[in-house]
Amino acid sequence: MRDHQPTHLDHRAPLVLDTRDLPRSPGAMRTFERVVPAPEDLGLELIRVPAGSDVSLSLRLESVSEGVLVSARATAALIGECGRCLREISDTLDVTFQQLYAYEHSTTEETTDEDEVGRMQGDLIDLEPDLRDAMVLALPNHPLCREDCPGLCPECGAQWDDLPADHSHTQVDPRWAALKQLKK
Ligand SMILES: [Zn+2]
Ligand SMILES: [Zn+2]
Repeated sequence: MRDHQPTHLDHRAPLVLDTRDLPRSPGAMRTFERVVPAPEDLGLELIRVPAGSDVSLSLRLESVSEGVLVSARATAALIGECGRCLREISDTLDVTFQQLYAYEHSTTEETTDEDEVGRMQGDLIDLEPDLRDAMVLALPNHPLCREDCPGLCPECGAQWDDLPADHSHTQVDPRWAALKQLKK
Protein backbone atom coordinates (compact mmCIF):
# COMPACT_ATOMS: atom_id res chain seq x y z
CA MET A 1 0.00 0.00 0.00
CA ARG A 2 1.67 3.18 -1.12
CA ASP A 3 -1.33 5.47 -1.23
CA HIS A 4 -0.77 7.11 2.13
CA GLN A 5 0.23 10.75 2.33
CA PRO A 6 4.00 11.04 2.54
CA THR A 7 4.93 12.85 5.73
CA HIS A 8 7.88 15.16 5.64
CA LEU A 9 9.71 14.66 8.83
CA ASP A 10 11.49 17.49 10.52
CA HIS A 11 14.92 16.33 11.67
CA ARG A 12 14.77 18.83 14.55
CA ALA A 13 11.54 17.35 15.95
CA PRO A 14 12.26 15.74 19.33
CA LEU A 15 10.91 12.32 18.33
CA VAL A 16 12.54 12.18 14.94
CA LEU A 17 15.82 10.28 14.90
CA ASP A 18 18.45 11.38 12.44
CA THR A 19 20.68 8.50 11.32
CA ARG A 20 23.02 10.51 9.08
CA ASP A 21 26.03 9.83 11.28
CA LEU A 22 25.26 6.10 11.58
CA PRO A 23 27.24 4.22 8.88
CA ARG A 24 25.03 2.01 6.74
CA SER A 25 27.09 -1.07 7.36
CA PRO A 26 25.67 -3.90 9.44
CA GLY A 27 26.86 -3.78 13.02
CA ALA A 28 27.47 -0.04 13.17
CA MET A 29 25.91 1.27 16.34
CA ARG A 30 25.16 4.47 18.11
CA THR A 31 23.69 4.99 21.57
CA PHE A 32 22.42 8.19 23.10
CA GLU A 33 20.09 9.63 25.67
CA ARG A 34 17.47 12.22 25.01
CA VAL A 35 14.78 13.92 27.06
CA VAL A 36 11.72 14.86 25.03
CA PRO A 37 8.46 16.58 25.91
CA ALA A 38 5.57 14.10 26.03
CA PRO A 39 3.26 14.44 23.02
CA GLU A 40 -0.44 15.24 23.50
CA ASP A 41 -2.92 12.49 24.42
CA LEU A 42 -0.35 9.99 25.60
CA GLY A 43 -2.47 7.78 27.79
CA LEU A 44 -5.80 6.24 28.61
CA GLU A 45 -8.95 7.63 30.15
CA LEU A 46 -7.82 7.25 33.76
CA ILE A 47 -4.06 7.52 33.47
CA ARG A 48 -1.70 9.47 31.27
CA VAL A 49 1.71 11.03 30.76
CA PRO A 50 1.01 14.74 31.08
CA ALA A 51 1.56 16.50 27.75
CA GLY A 52 4.85 18.38 27.76
CA SER A 53 6.30 16.51 30.74
CA ASP A 54 9.71 14.86 30.44
CA VAL A 55 10.05 11.51 28.72
CA SER A 56 13.58 10.19 29.15
CA LEU A 57 14.79 8.03 26.31
CA SER A 58 17.78 5.72 26.12
CA LEU A 59 18.27 4.81 22.50
CA ARG A 60 20.41 2.37 20.62
CA LEU A 61 20.49 2.56 16.84
CA GLU A 62 22.04 -0.36 15.06
CA SER A 63 22.61 -0.76 11.34
CA VAL A 64 21.30 -4.02 9.93
CA SER A 65 21.40 -5.06 6.30
CA GLU A 66 18.04 -3.55 5.33
CA GLY A 67 17.59 -0.76 7.79
CA VAL A 68 18.09 0.44 11.32
CA LEU A 69 17.11 -1.48 14.43
CA VAL A 70 16.08 0.86 17.23
CA SER A 71 16.08 -0.32 20.83
CA ALA A 72 14.53 2.19 23.17
CA ARG A 73 13.82 2.54 26.83
CA ALA A 74 11.44 5.26 27.89
CA THR A 75 10.66 6.48 31.39
CA ALA A 76 8.05 9.06 32.26
CA ALA A 77 5.89 10.29 35.12
CA LEU A 78 2.22 9.33 35.14
CA ILE A 79 -0.79 11.00 36.65
CA GLY A 80 -4.23 9.53 36.88
CA GLU A 81 -7.19 8.67 39.00
CA CYS A 82 -7.86 5.56 41.02
CA GLY A 83 -10.54 3.54 39.23
CA ARG A 84 -12.27 2.78 42.55
CA CYS A 85 -12.07 5.87 44.74
CA LEU A 86 -11.21 8.52 42.10
CA ARG A 87 -8.35 9.82 44.21
CA GLU A 88 -5.44 11.29 42.27
CA ILE A 89 -2.55 8.91 41.78
CA SER A 90 0.94 9.37 40.46
CA ASP A 91 3.23 6.68 39.18
CA THR A 92 6.11 6.16 36.80
CA LEU A 93 6.21 4.32 33.53
CA ASP A 94 9.26 2.43 32.35
CA VAL A 95 9.02 0.60 29.03
CA THR A 96 11.40 -0.88 26.51
CA PHE A 97 10.70 -1.65 22.89
CA GLN A 98 12.49 -2.57 19.73
CA GLN A 99 11.56 -1.77 16.17
CA LEU A 100 13.18 -2.25 12.80
CA TYR A 101 12.94 0.63 10.35
CA ALA A 102 13.56 -0.37 6.76
CA TYR A 103 15.60 1.76 4.37
CA GLU A 104 13.64 3.35 1.56
CA HIS A 105 13.52 1.11 -1.52
CA SER A 106 15.04 -1.83 0.37
CA THR A 107 13.69 -5.33 -0.24
CA THR A 108 12.36 -5.29 3.31
CA GLU A 109 10.42 -2.14 2.59
CA GLU A 110 9.00 -3.62 -0.61
CA THR A 111 8.03 -6.97 0.88
CA THR A 112 6.72 -6.19 4.35
CA ASP A 113 3.66 -4.58 5.77
CA GLU A 114 3.97 -1.11 7.20
CA ASP A 115 2.64 -2.20 10.55
CA GLU A 116 5.16 -5.00 10.97
CA VAL A 117 8.27 -3.10 9.95
CA GLY A 118 8.74 0.66 10.31
CA ARG A 119 9.81 2.88 7.45
CA MET A 120 12.70 5.26 7.22
CA GLN A 121 12.22 8.48 5.36
CA GLY A 122 15.64 9.16 3.93
CA ASP A 123 17.90 9.20 6.98
CA LEU A 124 15.07 9.96 9.36
CA ILE A 125 13.00 7.78 11.65
CA ASP A 126 9.73 8.90 13.18
CA LEU A 127 9.80 7.31 16.62
CA GLU A 128 6.55 8.80 17.88
CA PRO A 129 3.99 6.19 16.70
CA ASP A 130 5.96 3.25 18.09
CA LEU A 131 6.91 5.04 21.28
CA ARG A 132 3.27 5.97 21.78
CA ASP A 133 2.09 2.38 21.19
CA ALA A 134 4.66 0.93 23.57
CA MET A 135 3.87 3.43 26.32
CA VAL A 136 0.09 3.23 26.06
CA LEU A 137 0.21 -0.57 25.97
CA ALA A 138 2.13 -0.58 29.25
CA LEU A 139 -0.47 1.50 31.09
CA PRO A 140 -2.91 -0.19 33.47
CA ASN A 141 -6.50 -0.27 32.22
CA HIS A 142 -7.76 -0.08 35.78
CA PRO A 143 -5.30 2.01 37.74
CA LEU A 144 -5.68 1.81 41.52
CA CYS A 145 -4.28 4.02 44.28
CA ARG A 146 -3.37 0.77 46.02
CA GLU A 147 -4.09 -2.90 45.46
CA ASP A 148 -6.76 -3.16 48.19
CA CYS A 149 -8.40 0.23 47.69
CA PRO A 150 -11.91 -0.15 49.20
CA GLY A 151 -13.42 2.44 46.85
CA LEU A 152 -16.52 4.45 47.61
CA CYS A 153 -19.59 3.82 49.71
CA PRO A 154 -22.27 3.01 47.13
CA GLU A 155 -24.92 4.84 49.18
CA CYS A 156 -23.32 8.23 49.78
CA GLY A 157 -20.26 8.15 47.51
CA ALA A 158 -17.81 9.00 50.29
CA GLN A 159 -14.40 7.33 50.30
CA TRP A 160 -14.41 4.32 52.62
CA ASP A 161 -10.98 5.38 53.84
CA ASP A 162 -12.47 8.58 55.25
CA LEU A 163 -15.47 6.91 56.88
CA PRO A 164 -15.65 5.43 60.37
CA ALA A 165 -15.49 1.63 60.51
CA ASP A 166 -19.17 1.36 61.49
CA HIS A 167 -20.38 3.64 58.67
CA SER A 168 -23.71 2.31 57.49
CA HIS A 169 -26.93 3.50 55.92
CA THR A 170 -28.96 0.65 57.30
CA GLN A 171 -31.65 2.03 59.59
CA VAL A 172 -31.85 -0.18 62.64
CA ASP A 173 -35.50 -0.88 63.37
CA PRO A 174 -36.17 0.50 66.87
CA ARG A 175 -38.13 -2.65 67.76
CA TRP A 176 -35.13 -4.88 66.97
CA ALA A 177 -32.93 -2.56 68.94
CA ALA A 178 -35.24 -2.94 71.91
CA LEU A 179 -35.14 -6.72 71.54
CA LYS A 180 -31.34 -6.66 71.55
CA GLN A 181 -31.42 -4.74 74.78
CA LEU A 182 -33.72 -7.36 76.31
CA LYS A 183 -31.44 -10.22 75.31
CA LYS A 184 -28.66 -8.62 77.27
ZN1 LIG B 1 -8.41 4.17 45.39
ZN1 LIG C 1 -22.17 5.97 52.90
